[in-house]
Amino acid sequence: MIAALTIVESCAAGLVVTTAIAFDPSASAVLLGLLLAVTGIAHTEIATGVERARRRVGEKSYTDLSTIWTFAAAVLLPPAVATAAVVVIYTHLWFRVWKPARFPLYRHVFTTSTVLLAVRAAHEIVLRAAAPGMSLAGLAGLAVLLLAAAAYATVNSALIAAAVAANDPQARPTDLFGHLDDIMVEVATLCLGAMLALTLTISWWFVLLAFPPILVLQRAVLVRELAAAASTDGKTGLLTAAAWNVRAGQELRRARRGSTPFALLVLDLDHFKNVNDTHGHLAGDRVLAAVAGAVRDEVRGNDLVGRFGGEEFVVLLPGLPGDHPVGGLRMVAERIRIRVEHLDVPIETPDGPLSIANLSISAGGAIVTPEASTTIEQVLSLADRALYAAKGAGRNAVRIAGHPVAGPRIDSPALEPERSAEDR
Ligand code: GH3
Ligand code: MG
Ligand code: MG
Repeated sequence: MIAALTIVESCAAGLVVTTAIAFDPSASAVLLGLLLAVTGIAHTEIATGVERARRRVGEKSYTDLSTIWTFAAAVLLPPAVATAAVVVIYTHLWFRVWKPARFPLYRHVFTTSTVLLAVRAAHEIVLRAAAPGMSLAGLAGLAVLLLAAAAYATVNSALIAAAVAANDPQARPTDLFGHLDDIMVEVATLCLGAMLALTLTISWWFVLLAFPPILVLQRAVLVRELAAAASTDGKTGLLTAAAWNVRAGQELRRARRGSTPFALLVLDLDHFKNVNDTHGHLAGDRVLAAVAGAVRDEVRGNDLVGRFGGEEFVVLLPGLPGDHPVGGLRMVAERIRIRVEHLDVPIETPDGPLSIANLSISAGGAIVTPEASTTIEQVLSLADRALYAAKGAGRNAVRIAGHPVAGPRIDSPALEPERSAEDR
């Protein structure tokens, strides 16, 4: 990751130096650069409350709404002035938003570097695609702007994705590029930047028209991020029980309409209390996060995984895998069980690093073809009874309600709990 950051930052620094050496812009370009830097600063000042709230909500935030000013600068200004405007806006952002949020400086320098390179890429497109002296008008103008926006977004997101991937080789596409919503906000901000660039060619006063839409967009982003944070369990990154219930209710209604089988798994770590007692609660939390990641990895993207209680997880699988729902559900549960069996969770102890292994999980599953009166609670209770049966069969086992299995280790035909609720 250090190599990736150094390369990107060196390129950006090289760009700043070479453009500074070739600094020979017209007075009007300098004034327009100044205008964009000042409006960028004003935007940050007006929106500091919202931005700080965003920083507190989620450390991973992909959408940077200063793009409106930097993209307009890329389209309208010679590189030296655009570079200076970006440096001014991002230095101000550092002191007003990121530093107070205790964001590491090296990451802000990296973000600024990616923006500088993206601005330069977009500028080169405009320079090469638009004939000299040609105004950005008509279909050709639109094509140039779209190409420039695509270059900006591609350079920016590819560099950030490369840094994230270098830091975490297991990162998923959404970790690298953000969710579709993040991408749409980026697209909307670039569109506003393009419209701002065009209106500035008519009159600089029109810059004021950019403020209401960008500030409303920023609030919309905050609301979305708050909603996402409220439905995410902090320790595991899974859905909270409440959020899972709401989403599961929607899936149940969908399954009812299509009369499709509805499958659910309840998972509970075996003897988890021992982990806490032996290694402490912080180590227990690490195990929880590792198991949550394992469960998430072993199911499909549209399966709903939630943290139900302390060390209990629920998975709803809409549209069952395979032609045989029971076999399909059992296969998924077995995959999770085996994965947890092989987990090795590294922890730090006062005596040095240690790794927690020999974990196991028990799973109870249920499949119903929901009728009008079926509730989530009923399906959950079926799966929960199957989980008790798995625990009763010696743990590290899978049971599917109503479907006892033949086999060496799964030999309890009854799904009645073999332990009382208090035991649990
Ligand atoms: P069993 O195999 O019967 O499920 O045994 P168990 O020890 O896993 O079950 P029990 O329900 O007795 O214990 C669950 C433990 O989970 C007790 C509690 O301390 C722990 N726990 C619950 N939530 C958290 C959490 O957020 N972090 C940590 N570290 N531990 C938690
Ligand atoms: Mg347990
Ligand atoms: Mg439990």
